[in-house]
Amino acid sequence: MRIAFGKPIIEFQGLQWKLADMETGTAAARELLYKACAMADRSEPLLPKYSSMAKLFASDNAMKVTVEAVQVLGGYGYVNEYPVERMMRDAKITQIYEGTNEIQRVVIARSMT
Ligand SMILES: Cc1cc2nc3c(=O)[nH]c(=O)nc-3n(C[C@H](O)[C@H](O)[C@H](O)COP(=O)(O)OP(=O)(O)OC[C@H]3O[C@@H](n4cnc5c(N)ncnc54)[C@H](O)[C@@H]3O)c2cc1C
Repeated sequence: MRIAFGKPIIEFQGLQWKLADMETGTAAARELLYKACAMADRSEPLLPKYSSMAKLFASDNAMKVTVEAVQVLGGYGYVNEYPVERMMRDAKITQIYEGTNEIQRVVIARSMT
């Protein structure tokens, strides 16, 4: 447990808010993914839109969460002896491959016209 200024750092509200946002974003990403998977099972016509939204949201969230995880862990988050900096890099590629997130946005926007 990391102690700073005489307290476990989890007791600082600034860090609690970060963790709450990370948890909320990840739960939302999971729900959108499950929805897209259920639509795939039923071959629904809006599947391309929802699969793009799931890929976009989950990968952007993964990037946001891992950047915050590095921040929360301070120096231990940054150095490569610990896995968190690798997780941040791994999250980055999910915004790039399988259709970049810019292209996912193009697909989503086209489905709205
Ligand atoms: C580690 C890794 C693993 C990979 N694995 C595979 C794999 O298994 N199979 C496979 O087929 N490919 C794979 N790829 C390739 C990956 O899909 C491409 O890197 C990705 O599609 C982006 O293409 P590009 O690198 O040519 O970038 P570019 O097409 O040159 O794009 C560069 C930037 O411009 C943006 N951009 C391009 N066109 C537009 C547009 N019309 N509007 C807005 N923005 C745009 C892109 O979003 C991106 O940000 C992998 C790549 C990496 C790095």
